[in-house]
Amino acid sequence: MNLLTDYSIEELKQIVTDLGQKPYRAAQVFKWAHQFSPYEEMSDLPLEFREKLAAGFEPNALAEVKKLTSRDGTVKYLFRLNDGALIESVLMDYKYGRTLCISTQAGCRMGCAFCASGKDGLLRNLSAGEILSQLLYVNRGLKGTLKDRAVQNVVLMGSGEPLDNYDNVVKFIGLATAKEGINIGQRNISLSTCGVADKMKRLADEGHQIMLTVSLHATTDKERNMIMPVNRAYPIAQVLDASRYFFEKTGRRITFEYTLIKEFNMFEDDAFRLAAMLRGMPSHLNLIMLNDTGNKGIKACTREEAEKFKQLLEEKGVTCTVRRSLGSDIEGACGQLRRKG
Ligand code: SAH
Repeated sequence: MNLLTDYSIEELKQIVTDLGQKPYRAAQVFKWAHQFSPYEEMSDLPLEFREKLAAGFEPNALAEVKKLTSRDGTVKYLFRLNDGALIESVLMDYKYGRTLCISTQAGCRMGCAFCASGKDGLLRNLSAGEILSQLLYVNRGLKGTLKDRAVQNVVLMGSGEPLDNYDNVVKFIGLATAKEGINIGQRNISLSTCGVADKMKRLADEGHQIMLTVSLHATTDKERNMIMPVNRAYPIAQVLDASRYFFEKTGRRITFEYTLIKEFNMFEDDAFRLAAMLRGMPSHLNLIMLNDTGNKGIKACTREEAEKFKQLLEEKGVTCTVRRSLGSDIEGACGQLRRKG
């Protein structure tokens, strides 16, 4: 069945007029849908109209199956979509506000060696409304409203590669930033990509003002090929070129993510190459402690080793942070999102 949250107000105008209603009803439907309201709550819509809508459209995209709270307060949600597909979202509490990490695909076809999300490949893309509904559901659960959001930031860093589901992700950005809806700012949305260079450029060309995060994770093509198959299609030079392009077009500083893998990508030579790559690139570098997903040959380093690598980078003029890992005890940390059978 169709999903109400998949439509913009313009599209809803067509739908409501086809059902014999005045176009102004579209904004009402949009608001209710973005509050994650069931039809019973849509009190300013005539009952008969609600019944007609209900015959063709689901108001809600997902249902909560499970909710796990980590020792550090991070919350992982397991959701079932209307066709039974399962996805996860993770809510983190930062000093600057609550951040919700949402999924853009059920599964992932990128096959990064260290990541659990891609282990079974791609099940399917999520629609724009399914991506958005994760935010709408959590906002409602936290007693947030459209005027007073309970979630301040959204990161497209859950399962899936957002730029492999480009059209739906772009539509999601439009819906999430609509002033009649939850109205989140473009700068409060971060999109993380494994480096689909042509789509990164397209995002910039289309004038999107979201924040872009690029998963780098290695400093030579040989090594990046070993852990990220996407590197064969878009090698490091192309990813860096697209990153620079994005900055030049949008003025938005890029964040690079670099997951530390012991005895693999954290030698002094890596620090040299990383420093050379990022020289003159307006960006920030996040070093991520690898979360163990049980992959052979991919080992996490200690905090001390991470700090040592950070220091090597700083000596070479790169500013970076070692990112705190949240939610690992509930398998809600980076790369751990994958339902256990
Ligand atoms: N497909 C996108 C977004 C999803 S992953 C991307 O690749 O960027 C979000 C981040 O978590 C990426 O930087 C990813 O490389 C990282 N990640 C994946 N598995 C991880 C793991 N086991 N430990 C730490 N970070 C991991």
